[in-house]
Amino acid sequence: MDMQKNDCRGTSPVLEKKLKIAVEQTCELCHEYFPVSFLEIHTISRRTYKEMARDPSARILIVCHTCHNHIHRLPVPVGKQRALVKARSFYIRRDLRRILGYKPKPYRAPDDINIPLVYDEYFGRYSWGSYRLSG
Ligand SMILES: [Zn+2]
Ligand SMILES: [Zn+2]
Repeated sequence: MDMQKNDCRGTSPVLEKKLKIAVEQTCELCHEYFPVSFLEIHTISRRTYKEMARDPSARILIVCHTCHNHIHRLPVPVGKQRALVKARSFYIRRDLRRILGYKPKPYRAPDDINIPLVYDEYFGRYSWGSYRLSG
């Protein structure tokens, strides 16, 4: 029995499965690979820290059953859990955000950059240029 498990519910089974696949079925604490059914979604804190205010992916960790028990029973300090969130790779963070429906403000390129010019310069010099030389 595990009385604290209820703290960590709140997503649908379909969503949970997507989150587990997004972390490549790898526990975010012990970094071992597990079947989906052995992974659980942990909610870091009921408190809303600044990084969690807009980004729901900052509130969760995807961990194996053993580590999940560990997190609650030790317990693993919230500061360490938040550090694990911050250490996520770009792609995992991006996928988790997508699944949870969080869209960071889109990046807008500054207006003064001429993209076609940069493109031409790159390919002219390194790609087409070297091709012509060799042929
Ligand atoms: Zn684990
Ligand atoms: Zn938990």
